[in-house]
Amino acid sequence: MPIKIVRNDITKIECDAIVNAANSSLLGGGGVDGAIHRAAGKGLLLECMKLGGCKVGQANLTKAYKLPSRFVIHIVGPKWKGGQNGERELLESCYHESLRIAADNNCESIAFPLISSGVYGYPKDQALKIAVDTITSFLIDHDMLVYIVVFDKSAFQISEKLFSDITSYIDDKYVDTHFIFNRSRRDEYGESTVLAETQILSDDFETCELQAPQCPTMGVPKAASLADMVNQIDESFSQMLLRKIDEKGMTDAECYKKANVDRKLFSKIRGDAYYRPSKTTAIAFAIALELSLEDTKDMLMKAGFALSHSNKFDIIIEYFIINENYNIFEINEALFAFDQSLLGV
Ligand code: ADP
Repeated sequence: MPIKIVRNDITKIECDAIVNAANSSLLGGGGVDGAIHRAAGKGLLLECMKLGGCKVGQANLTKAYKLPSRFVIHIVGPKWKGGQNGERELLESCYHESLRIAADNNCESIAFPLISSGVYGYPKDQALKIAVDTITSFLIDHDMLVYIVVFDKSAFQISEKLFSDITSYIDDKYVDTHFIFNRSRRDEYGESTVLAETQILSDDFETCELQAPQCPTMGVPKAASLADMVNQIDESFSQMLLRKIDEKGMTDAECYKKANVDRKLFSKIRGDAYYRPSKTTAIAFAIALELSLEDTKDMLMKAGFALSHSNKFDIIIEYFIINENYNIFEINEALFAFDQSLLGV
């Protein structure tokens, strides 16, 4: 099952267990700890008092009282002391321990805050990366739906370089589109409109005139009946997906896990040659398969979608594909930073 990064208050998440970034007394505090204790009510504090504290990296399970989850897993994260004092290993063990205790208690879903990234001062981008990496490796052998809950947008501090690269890439593409658009507006009914439309088309697709032999409708004789044309139906999205999985030598599980897509959804796609996925799901598979931009566009077209330069989501996807960065979590961080929908489920 996939990782879902959501922006929310963790006390509102409905799942089997939520993780509390507690302090070693386990008696409540500020930040997420305070929010969880306030929402759960006094029963939680009374149970925590019986536990007698907790060491860094150690997990304790309690009931969740008034929270919508079944359990709260209390974990004490490491304090950031510059990064050379075993902080990383301790933070990884927080995620491992919480996931292990959740699995031991038959949890099918769990929600994490970004442990240590508040008062304990762990840099948020590094804290997020450790969370994603540790959870991803756990999910290779386990089936669990894992939420990473971020409270505020600043938690997604993707590296400034990446952010500014994407911003300028978006600006460039917008400039292209708007420049062409403005030219087309100059003469609304005249020739320049036609010229402009052709240019916009040629940016994304080759026009039929230029690419006659490859245009899908060109090879069909004029007198062909509708039935004949329908019989020439092309490979579908799910057929292309399965073909590409084979060509890349991947297993189904490797592919849907890398795409951050749920196993049940993958089974549906596998069992239905004409399944119509959402655009984000289709792109998630293209990313998992590390398709070129051309193949990505082809796969999307089979699902009824395109990549255009008229919206930021598409440009960000294109940016990552062109730069051969197929890390779905980094892509999702970037999409999140630009307020776009995330890939996968
Ligand atoms: P720590 O002491 O481990 O740093 P904090 O509670 O100070 O713990 O912060 C951990 C992370 O939880 C921070 O990124 C903070 O923004 C976030 N956070 C605070 N309140 C909530 C909440 N209600 N739901 C989800 N995340 C929260």
